[in-house]
Amino acid sequence: MVELRDARNRPLRDLRISVTDRCNMRCRYCMPREVFGTNFPYLSRADVLTFEEIDRLVGLFRSLGVEKIRLSGGEPLLRKDLHELISMLALHGLELAMTTNGVLLPRYAPALSAAGLDRVTVSLDAIDEATFAAITDSGHTVAAVLAGIEAAESVGLGPIKINTVVKRGVNESELLDLVERFSSRDIATRFIEYMDVGTTNGWDLQDVVTAQEIRELLGSLEPVPPTHQGEVAKRYQLPQGGEVGLITSVTEPFCGDCNRARLSADGHLYTCLFASQGLDLLTPLRNGSTDEELLELIKSCWLNREDRYSELRAESSPSISRVEMSYIGG
Ligand code: SAM
Ligand code: SF4
Ligand code: SF4
Repeated sequence: MVELRDARNRPLRDLRISVTDRCNMRCRYCMPREVFGTNFPYLSRADVLTFEEIDRLVGLFRSLGVEKIRLSGGEPLLRKDLHELISMLALHGLELAMTTNGVLLPRYAPALSAAGLDRVTVSLDAIDEATFAAITDSGHTVAAVLAGIEAAESVGLGPIKINTVVKRGVNESELLDLVERFSSRDIATRFIEYMDVGTTNGWDLQDVVTAQEIRELLGSLEPVPPTHQGEVAKRYQLPQGGEVGLITSVTEPFCGDCNRARLSADGHLYTCLFASQGLDLLTPLRNGSTDEELLELIKSCWLNREDRYSELRAESSPSISRVEMSYIGG
């Protein structure tokens, strides 16, 4: 196995794969309906990586040091026969996780678990149905997400984590309810600072509830040391037992340890969530490139990587074009 280090001496450990750019929700902060309507130019089926292509790339990334795969999207459970991809990827001996909005888990969790998925993170921004409806703008309910979490729990897709994006004036009042609901069940909630991913969500720094504000809202928290380098969330023990995490990319950036690469549904490699351009791997894959040629492309991309967008944002206010979260995966 090759130990790759980028230009800032960061290894490549974590690969997030978007399996579709489509979604059954229209979260305001991610895929606002006025932009992502029926006329939005979603990727055509022919432009999306096949399971065989994803599997081949995962094998190559594995040989470069990747230890963990996270499937994302869009909504990954909209990808037909996803369990077949999971059973292919399970043969690589990597940790296999997925981030989902959860509503399709009651239907698919048993097959996903049987195929070799290790665990899921479920996104849920509110317990109150009206607040949830206003955020997700899709007709889906909190009850459906909770049923999805139960389904995942019942087939052992744990430890489950909950992702909650916190937006000012929208769901700060939900945080304690979320913590109360999940901490007693050994499910950690991770509160995410609302980020300026993409260019369609009208992001404004004023809308970010800072990690410090979230800590104050939650009361006395005991920091838990990270289990590995590059851990995304800062973890805390709650006084009543259980854990919460804070993902502080806006106010306390953590680029120095960032070991994550992202593969878009159409086979472009992004070395930062806030990148404006990715490396096209789809074309060489389909033009008959050998594994060695593909490896060379990936290696030189990582070796030249200098990304530290969140640190730069904290220092100034960079204004550049950025890919959308639904395309690149969270
Ligand atoms: N559809 C799946 C879901 O929602 O879990 C997977 C894809 S979604 C893009 C992955 C994660 O990104 C979700 O937890 C979502 O809440 C988060 N996310 C999306 N837009 C965000 C933003 N502007 N700031 C912070 N997190 C965001
Ligand atoms: Fe869909 Fe997930 Fe984005 Fe919400 S956050 S719109 S569920 S991709
Ligand atoms: Fe990694 Fe880019 Fe996020 Fe920094 S801004 S932590 S480099 S993805």
